[in-house]
Amino acid sequence: MKKLIFLLVAMSTLSQFSLTAQDKTYPQTEPMKPGMSEWWVPQPKKVTPGVINQQAAITAPSDAIVLFDGKDLSAWENTKGEKAGWRVHDGILTVDKSTGDIRTKQKFENFQLHLEWMVPEDITGTGQGRGNSGVYLQGMYEVQILDTYNNETYSNGSTGSIYKQSAPLANVMRKPGEWNVYDIIYSAPVFKADGTYRIPPTVTVIQNGVVIQNHTTILGTTEYVGFPRVVKHGEGPILLQSHGDKSEPLSFRNIWIREL
Ligand code: MG
Repeated sequence: MKKLIFLLVAMSTLSQFSLTAQDKTYPQTEPMKPGMSEWWVPQPKKVTPGVINQQAAITAPSDAIVLFDGKDLSAWENTKGEKAGWRVHDGILTVDKSTGDIRTKQKFENFQLHLEWMVPEDITGTGQGRGNSGVYLQGMYEVQILDTYNNETYSNGSTGSIYKQSAPLANVMRKPGEWNVYDIIYSAPVFKADGTYRIPPTVTVIQNGVVIQNHTTILGTTEYVGFPRVVKHGEGPILLQSHGDKSEPLSFRNIWIREL
């Protein structure tokens, strides 16, 4: 009898414990909104860049892989792996927003990337809706392209930001209709077996001869809503963004890369 009572008491205690565990509720995580990962102050200080040759800032060195030399898009494809649809004309490449992002067919690890970009002189729109594009390193991490010559936005979404992670050290924009130059030095991440970073990716960005990201640690994927995520990956393409804003499409030229 004593054994039976002990058993009944034990069972009752156990079931109470499991009920308690099941019934306990915790607060729901609040849904993230885009503005929660945007900051506006301080704004990047304005720096007037030195004079560059508006014909082509610097042509490809002998060991570079030329990704766009003004002639064709043979090094590029759309994100379905089909022919890239952007418009090649007059030695430049203009975004065609109806055809989406484009990426290099070749994939890369560590590199030095040179590219030049220009928002049209008659650009319209405000904030993020004014000449928005971007360069995705290894197809994962966006260095922002935007017309911020006379256009404020959240600092960590400004031109040369690691989008929503790291604001640029300065605003070195040339005015619409003039070419901007990006030189990007990128070190790919090294992953642990569990998929987290052993060494996170880092990037240095020079715009028009001025350092705007100085060996910046990239925290993870580029997210419009929420926090960066760490996603294990290998080599990846250079991807150029076709942004969904309504402003006039921008153009690129003189794109080359050196593997490091
Ligand atoms: Mg962008």
